[in-house]
Amino acid sequence: MAIKIPPVSEIAKDTYVINEFGLTAMYLLVGSDRALLLDTGCGLTELPDLIANITDKPLMVALTHGHLDHVGGIGQFDRIHLHPADYEMAANCDFERLRGYVDSLGKMGSYDAFGISPDMVREPEKLPEMKPLHDGDRIDLGGRQIQVIHIPGHTPGGLCFLDESVRILFSGDACNTNLLAQNTPVSETQRALLYLQTFAGRYDRMWNGHVGYAGNFLTCCQPDSTLSDLLTICERILSGTAEPKEFPFLGRTLCAYEYGVARMSYDPENL
Ligand SMILES: [Zn+2]
Repeated sequence: MAIKIPPVSEIAKDTYVINEFGLTAMYLLVGSDRALLLDTGCGLTELPDLIANITDKPLMVALTHGHLDHVGGIGQFDRIHLHPADYEMAANCDFERLRGYVDSLGKMGSYDAFGISPDMVREPEKLPEMKPLHDGDRIDLGGRQIQVIHIPGHTPGGLCFLDESVRILFSGDACNTNLLAQNTPVSETQRALLYLQTFAGRYDRMWNGHVGYAGNFLTCCQPDSTLSDLLTICERILSGTAEPKEFPFLGRTLCAYEYGVARMSYDPENL
């Protein structure tokens, strides 16, 4: 029988990854006073029901960024927290495009693995209240503090969340092995990733916004060298020593360059 509830794994004490059918990953962090949900996925999941099976603590919802595959479920909540630079993106989610995203990953394997369809994406009747999160903010869950780190590049308002109690950095899409940063100058992405590197001694594992991609059930953190490989990529692009591949993207010509475990897509006219 097809799986209709997203697989949930406990990746550290009171720390859960919700694999939304190979489409995106969400995280639930439970403290002694309240719980924090990072991202809301594509909106295929009744998140309040799912979370109620794990914890009855009051819930705060925060977003790593405003892209459609992370904001699809925001209508299920009264209030969400994110960086103000991504407010507009989150408020104007194109649900038809989101259905197209679900369908493309569905055809890549999620339809074989899970009982899902694009019709499960529901447009919210009302938007939640949006509250700001900024670099340096601390979220106190009771017995665990989460530090907010602003990492622009993938989107202007990209946020990472550092939880030193379990030594995990939740990087969203701001730092992963396939970094899409085509709307940001490479020098700005580099500056943000160098800033992220200053936190290196404070976590052991980095989990990003997509695990178990499409029909692949694999749920694991990213390779340790992801950030340093991305920094090598930025350095080589900016010094002119990279040999990137060009590819067409929505009427533009973008470049992609790979090093180690990582790949970055960028606009060669916007270094
Ligand atoms: Zn994204």
